Amino acid sequence: MSEGSSLETIDGAIAPPTEPGGGGPTGVLHVPLLGNPNTGKTTLFNALCGLRHKTSNFPGTTQEARIGVVRVAAAGAESEVHLIDLPGIYSLELDLLEARICRDVLAGRLSPKGEPIGDPEAVCIVADATNLARNLVFVGEVLRRRLPTVVALNMIDLARAEGREINLRTLEEQLGCRVVAVSARKGEGLELLASAIRTATVPTHTPPGDQTELEHWADRLAVRAMQPTGSDAARSRSKVSLTDRLDPLLVSPWTGIPIFAAVMIAVFYTIFSIAQFPMEWIDTFFGTAADFVERVLPEGILRDLVARGVVVGIGATAVFVPQICLLFFLISLLEDTGYLARAALLMHRVLRPFGLPGHAFVPLLSSHACALPGIMSTRVIPDRRERLATILVAPFMTCSARLPVYVLVTSLLFKGQPLYAGLAFVGCYMLGALAGLFSAFIARRTILKGPSRPMVLELPTYKVPSLRTALVTTIDRGWVFLKNAGTNILAICIVLWWLGSYPHVAPPESAKLLHVQATDLRAIAETAGDKAKSDAQLENAQKLEDEANRLTAADAKARSFIGRMGKTVQPVFAPLGYDWQLTIGVLTSFAAREVFVSTMAIVTSAGGDDADVHDEGIVRSIATAPRDDGKTPIFTTATCWSVLVFFVLAMQCLPTLAVTAKEAGGAKWALLQLAWMSGVAYAAAFIVFQSLRLAGIS
Ligand code: GDP
Repeated sequence: MSEGSSLETIDGAIAPPTEPGGGGPTGVLHVPLLGNPNTGKTTLFNALCGLRHKTSNFPGTTQEARIGVVRVAAAGAESEVHLIDLPGIYSLELDLLEARICRDVLAGRLSPKGEPIGDPEAVCIVADATNLARNLVFVGEVLRRRLPTVVALNMIDLARAEGREINLRTLEEQLGCRVVAVSARKGEGLELLASAIRTATVPTHTPPGDQTELEHWADRLAVRAMQPTGSDAARSRSKVSLTDRLDPLLVSPWTGIPIFAAVMIAVFYTIFSIAQFPMEWIDTFFGTAADFVERVLPEGILRDLVARGVVVGIGATAVFVPQICLLFFLISLLEDTGYLARAALLMHRVLRPFGLPGHAFVPLLSSHACALPGIMSTRVIPDRRERLATILVAPFMTCSARLPVYVLVTSLLFKGQPLYAGLAFVGCYMLGALAGLFSAFIARRTILKGPSRPMVLELPTYKVPSLRTALVTTIDRGWVFLKNAGTNILAICIVLWWLGSYPHVAPPESAKLLHVQATDLRAIAETAGDKAKSDAQLENAQKLEDEANRLTAADAKARSFIGRMGKTVQPVFAPLGYDWQLTIGVLTSFAAREVFVSTMAIVTSAGGDDADVHDEGIVRSIATAPRDDGKTPIFTTATCWSVLVFFVLAMQCLPTLAVTAKEAGGAKWALLQLAWMSGVAYAAAFIVFQSLRLAGIS
């Protein structure tokens, strides 16, 4: 049917209309791409359009809308297919924003372009060949709309490898529309698909309207269309039995949970041991950059701002990018293998007793990257109370913004012991998750009381993960993190630098006195005849000078705006072991956690010897920064643990509060979230710090 057709993906000229299915009056075909989640819709869209697409939002929503251009030439005529990537949904009939968008686009009421474009010229449904029965239910729902339709039977490579030979003729006859077998991943069948889209026709018959009947229809059809074939069947037995052999191990709680724990530990151990090297390079780079700025710019406010505000601020955040990227890379690989779905099933059993549905697993897992997309994806939870409970506890999950704090504090606690640091890290993740479950449990028994619903979860077959997908995800997430560092965090850092550097004050009397004494010693050294004696006096003079400088800087810091703020609020945090400098770090983190490390870098660099920051690296400078007494470090062992626990549990993110208010339907939910999480964080950090002190660990 497609002989002689060719597929090009370029922004070429618009071809004249051709029939049948040659396009609208302009030769452009608007073709929605629909399908169940995980059918490979995104991979297919990318394979067909490459980078030739525009991204916007569906009007009036935050739902992303991508339109890609595919140029199809067949039998001397050309058409331009505008592929509209629609959100993946399980059913068109659901009362969800995503399903509504799909319905409206199919009915010609909505388009990503803003203006309605009328009925689409054709529809392309992506169906997963390895999961035919369930996908056919959805196909039936779309066919009922009676638009020119093509089914892209994707993952055909996997189906074949499993020994499932699908009879396309039977499927086409029964569905009454074209069915094209494709492998989006391998780029197979794409030309045939594009040409079938161009010549798509209205289905020859309409599937049943009743949903149960539709399901029976789909089941029977799936059985009829699937015929295992000789040699493939033999191969499939080994393939299927691999899944059959693995699943009982990975899904049963007794073996599954230890394996899950081992996988997580391996992930974090890898992150800690590998990321260390690029982190050191980045640290050194920013140290050198700050040094360079100090040397080339004339002394003054600009030099201070750039070297101590901008460079230190960005550097302290950028240093954690390797770790965050590595985490996303490994999670993406795991997801691609199909293992994360097994983990979801395991977690479903864990979530149930706490009044959360299995649907909550994906939002909670996404919240481990960032609570914002996590909270937005709670829309898939049908029950309102379960949904609210998930929204409330989602920010307890360890998001990437907490990682810099975890990395800083665990590396202070376990210097040169990556295994222990890794374990502490896993502990933080578990503490966050447990606090979330515990809070959900309480919420579902008090303010959100109500029955739980049963849930069905789909397990994909095991796949070899795609390195490309993992790399793209990683670059994407790393970039988002850096962009944040470049804007919000930078702005906060500059404000902090200003608050920390002004007003300028005269050096304290004690420092002046030390300077005088140092000058005296130098004079004595000059007149001393003996070289050894003279050197000793000079050395003493230097010590006095150093102490005078430290006193001056500490005094300036204490009397700066930020010093006054920190000192005023410090009594509140004293029971947690925080001095006023750490109090500033904690307070500024309520705007966004990312700024904690950069705040500490700025607050401590303003007081210590400059060489600390530039030569030894930002992390070490924070590690050794002293309290006002000049001896005790800000971060003692007990304080480190207390800070760690506080950051695991506290609600420190303004954007998340805004999204909670919007998604939960009221500011009261955001306030409740803030009050509850911060209260829990304070209480837990208090218990940790005081217990360690009682145990003699300071
Ligand atoms: P979406 O949720 O429908 O957008 O699905 P994705 O495009 O994200 O694909 C889900 C997973 O299936 C990814 O791991 C893809 O690499 C994989 N995938 C997609 N198409 C194919 C295919 O044709 N063959 C194989 N073997 N894997 C595929």
